[in-house]
Amino acid sequence: MIARSRIQAHLDDHVTQVLQCRRCSRMQSMPVSGGAVVSDVMLIGQAPGPREPVLQRPFAHTAGKTLFRWFEEFCGLSESIVRSTIYFAAVCRCFPGKSAGGTDRVPAPDEIHNCSSWMNNEIKILRPQLIIPVGRLAIAQFIDCTKLEEVIGRKFRVQCVQHSFDLIPLPHPSGASPWHKVLPGKKLLSRALKLVARHPAIVDLRM
Ligand code: SF4
Repeated sequence: MIARSRIQAHLDDHVTQVLQCRRCSRMQSMPVSGGAVVSDVMLIGQAPGPREPVLQRPFAHTAGKTLFRWFEEFCGLSESIVRSTIYFAAVCRCFPGKSAGGTDRVPAPDEIHNCSSWMNNEIKILRPQLIIPVGRLAIAQFIDCTKLEEVIGRKFRVQCVQHSFDLIPLPHPSGASPWHKVLPGKKLLSRALKLVARHPAIVDLRM
């Protein structure tokens, strides 16, 4: 087993490199990182909004408030505990800017491809027991996500970069979509959060 101090050093170095990344010319901010938190759990968002680069942490605004309320209510974990014990990754680490319609632009395939090496490297370094992808774009990096109804509320066993882990998808907590507020989404979200709360890697965080 690799010593924790070696993993920490490796992750520190990795996060330093992520923060210096400038691969995508259309991105509208510098990369955002949740810090080099050595953990058995990775949470994977889609891409930061306009506030996260200013506040310099992922899920720093309204969607984050909802996400952390879910963890508090179902897992008994406060925002500060979640931020200090779970590694926060994302499909893309920079704010993509606004679309013509005024919503946050969805990252383009080339940007997702550019950023995927960071996430793959994090999986190699941390070898997590559990990955929680948040939102359709994040879920689709691991499994088919044509319909949220078919994946939320279920646990999957997934292999990626020669590592196997449990995957429990969550819907995006953004207020832009009502999916998680009305049936069947509301019930499936509750089922998914109960699966997260019971997972051994999450139980360990409460100890
Ligand atoms: S989105 Fe990812 S790959 Fe692109 S510049 Fe930002 S950190 Fe680099």
